[in-house]
Amino acid sequence: MRTSKPPVVLCFSGLDPTGGAGIQADIESIIKHGCHAAPIITANTVQDTKNVISFEAVNATLILKQARTILKDMPVSAIKIGMLGSGEIAEAIYTLFRQYSDIPVILDPVLAAGGGSSLAQKDLIDAVNTLIIPRTYILTPNIPEAQLLTNTKTQPEAAAQRLNKMGARYVLLTGTHSNNPDVIHKLYFKSKTLRTFKCKRLKNEFHGSGCTLAASLAALIAQKMEPINACQNALDFTYKTLKKAHVLGNGQLIPNRNI
Ligand code: PLP
Repeated sequence: MRTSKPPVVLCFSGLDPTGGAGIQADIESIIKHGCHAAPIITANTVQDTKNVISFEAVNATLILKQARTILKDMPVSAIKIGMLGSGEIAEAIYTLFRQYSDIPVILDPVLAAGGGSSLAQKDLIDAVNTLIIPRTYILTPNIPEAQLLTNTKTQPEAAAQRLNKMGARYVLLTGTHSNNPDVIHKLYFKSKTLRTFKCKRLKNEFHGSGCTLAASLAALIAQKMEPINACQNALDFTYKTLKKAHVLGNGQLIPNRNI
């Protein structure tokens, strides 16, 4: 029996040995949405379900070789970027953009672990701002990430609008970190709110919710879904994975993407 080919999503993400976040979250989410994941590891982390203890970035030249090899071999329909690991890796990915300018990029700006450890130094933040954000189709920051990227402590909305101006076509600002009783996510386009998404606040903390959301979005965009629907679908899927999350370690819950 012949089946139609799944769209390919090329992923640049860190390896999280808990299996909650990073590349495993990407692969599981992307398969669940009917696409094929082509995974490239940017960093190896040491972590548990509470926090990241340390990480080592992978050599940027190796990553570039891996990506070029895949891009020559497979029709990549979307690129998902999570933890970048180093400024050199951001620069390496930027060199790909010049050659593959029409592939949509979904960027989850992973700057800190849920437990608070920093996953990005200043040079990496600068590289993300100048090289990756201007080429990003949908950016998915949470409130602290949006503020860190724009170096502002102002209203989260102002930070999201600024990110549009810095070149991110759509900005899906996730609302988990606000004090609002519901979680309000907002999609920005041309520095205006295009859509507001509301969901019930869950009481637990999760390891890999942002990765699940961005990878789901990348898979839906790879299938040519338009951004508002893609955000709604990716948020709904992520919410379900969190509602059914597993308690597997002593810290945050692991999203259940096998739903
Ligand atoms: N990617 C990796 C490799 C990580 O280690 C982490 C957090 O620890 C993340 C991404 C971000 O996880 P989350 O989706 O919970 O923000």
